[in-house]
Amino acid sequence: MKTIYTLADLRDWKKKTRDLSPPIRLGVLGDPVAHSLSPEMQNVALQECGLDLRYAPFQIAPNELPDALRLMRELDFVGLNLTVPHKIAALSLVDEVDERARKIGAINTIVFREGKSLGWNTDGPGFERAIREEFSVDLRDMRVLLLGAGGGAGRALAYQCGLENCERLVLVNRTFDKAQALARELAGYFSGPRVLGPEARLEAIHWEERALRTQLGRTDLVINATTLGLKQSDPSPLPHALIAPHLMIYDLIYRRTATPLLAVAAEAGARGANGLTMLLHQGALAFELWFDRPAPLAAMRGALA
Ligand code: NAP
Repeated sequence: MKTIYTLADLRDWKKKTRDLSPPIRLGVLGDPVAHSLSPEMQNVALQECGLDLRYAPFQIAPNELPDALRLMRELDFVGLNLTVPHKIAALSLVDEVDERARKIGAINTIVFREGKSLGWNTDGPGFERAIREEFSVDLRDMRVLLLGAGGGAGRALAYQCGLENCERLVLVNRTFDKAQALARELAGYFSGPRVLGPEARLEAIHWEERALRTQLGRTDLVINATTLGLKQSDPSPLPHALIAPHLMIYDLIYRRTATPLLAVAAEAGARGANGLTMLLHQGALAFELWFDRPAPLAAMRGALA
């Protein structure tokens, strides 16, 4: 059983971790956090590189985030990852934010350096590498439909599609206004000529079956960046009837068993992959930010296998 730490532990950190060697100086903050595989992956990376430090999970509620970040900086942590639901809130709690992360409006990585906290976002570049690895196609050659365009990860992926000059991007979110606002932000990236047909290269649509059906006929890659599927009892974000065999489906959620969306995709004969490859690549990029050296990718991949 891995130990999950809390804010109360951080308040009494020296006493609580007195007997631990190597010391914990990195971690992932989330609510929930127990499902995260980052500790397994990053601890193998630390060991592989001979770094005498450990990485641990921290169960931190949204109202505890400011205190947790302050304490971790005071306690000489090297860096952190942020997962649901902290990526957006954390942006305003760090001293400096990388330009690209500021545009995205979310951070998933913090580096503590010379008494300052610096925020980065490695989700987008990690995702881009994951798509190439899983489907042997570059993101820029895809027509993409993104479910969950209002969340921290969804925003990062939408910006990545823009930066890659993706052929087409359809933004879908339960709260439509967020998808619409994001489409306005991204308009500049999609103003170039259309190659694959007369449709607009960038659209925000309502989460409705008819609109989805129309768009899925013109889509290559469907991304699930919602939290639907974190619980095995969740419904699939897309019903079986909407999934055609030509689709590639990437579910950011990772788990040992098929997620609800990937189970439905398999039944429909579509190719699917879960978020483990994105976890690997975003984690490798975070490691490189913390330690300014290449991440041991093969060892990290092995830890997730
Ligand atoms: P977040 O900021 O909390 O965003 C959650 C998103 O899910 C929002 O778009 C939200 O829509 C939507 N949502 C929540 N409940 C929903 C429901 N019942 N029906 C439809 N949409 C719903 O979370 P996040 O940090 O972006 O993470 C999103 C997911 O990606 C999580 O499952 C996370 O585990 C996964 N993730 C995986 C990786 C990886 O490396 N594989 C990396 C990052 C994130 P509203 O805007 O309407 O609330």
